[in-house]
Amino acid sequence: MKSIYIAAAAATALVPLVLFLHTFSSSPLPQPKPFVGPLPSATPPPGMAVFALPTGVTHRVAAFAYRGGSLLERRDFSMAGALVKHPKGDLLIDTGFGRHIAEQFQTMPILFRAMTFYTLWQPAADQLKAAAYDQKALRAILLTHAHWDHVSGLPDFPSVPVWVTAQERAFISRGGSGQFDGQFGKPLTGIVYEEYGFEGGPYLGFPRSHDVYGDGSIVVVPSPGHTPGSVIIFLTLPSGKRYAMVGDLVWQLEGITLREERPWITRRWADSDAGGTRENLLRMIALKERLPELIIVPAHDMRGFAEMPRLSRAGTQTSRPE
Ligand SMILES: [Zn+2]
Ligand SMILES: [Zn+2]
Repeated sequence: MKSIYIAAAAATALVPLVLFLHTFSSSPLPQPKPFVGPLPSATPPPGMAVFALPTGVTHRVAAFAYRGGSLLERRDFSMAGALVKHPKGDLLIDTGFGRHIAEQFQTMPILFRAMTFYTLWQPAADQLKAAAYDQKALRAILLTHAHWDHVSGLPDFPSVPVWVTAQERAFISRGGSGQFDGQFGKPLTGIVYEEYGFEGGPYLGFPRSHDVYGDGSIVVVPSPGHTPGSVIIFLTLPSGKRYAMVGDLVWQLEGITLREERPWITRRWADSDAGGTRENLLRMIALKERLPELIIVPAHDMRGFAEMPRLSRAGTQTSRPE
């Protein structure tokens, strides 16, 4: 009789574990209809180009990033920025790890630190310096969102304004005042934020847009969910090559190619509004169906940044001209 009670207690204890493990199993979102709207025109100026600035990695496993990913498959998440050269003013999209990541990281909650291992390669500011790039050519830093791993390098660019939406600016202002929300424990100081809005109409399935230089080469759309003011940045190069810098809409490309969301625990942990993330994820899946040549660059997927040239140390030329 006693053994029956023990077996029943063990089974009861196992139920939550089984349910929890199930949240890591494959569960593709329904396939949305392909995007059917017109492709917007763009006239990117000669000389416009994009360069990858990988600054380091965090060491994770595939299961952390998407449902159906293996707990045993190691994945290094890229921590990266991208330099967009444009005659009207260059932009840095996110910063990846900056020069002060070690001190900044110590301000994060202990549980987060216990779960997060990173390697710093070279901060974006040092990569630009090594390439003899003058920071004065930077018009702004355009953030996909304001989480720690995207803003760490902001203090390395003291005179460069940081472009954010009003929603993200409010999110930044709330940082450090309550529950861990992906920001550093201490706000970054001395940063000049400039807000922008979405004055433009629908763009590639997203309801509103912001055409940075009015030529269609850099177009920002709202993608709230991961954070309230997350955005996606579409780049169209003179060659016709198109990129979508999707930030943390997904952490690895399988989020889009396999239509797999983050597992429940990382949705809970990392997304301000998981429903919003899902809505925008479905938009990107629908767009990728229509535009298979679109290069999707999740901020933490090396495979996306591998589709971009790197800055040459000898100057701002690339070994793979666009
Ligand atoms: Zn994030
Ligand atoms: Zn991130």
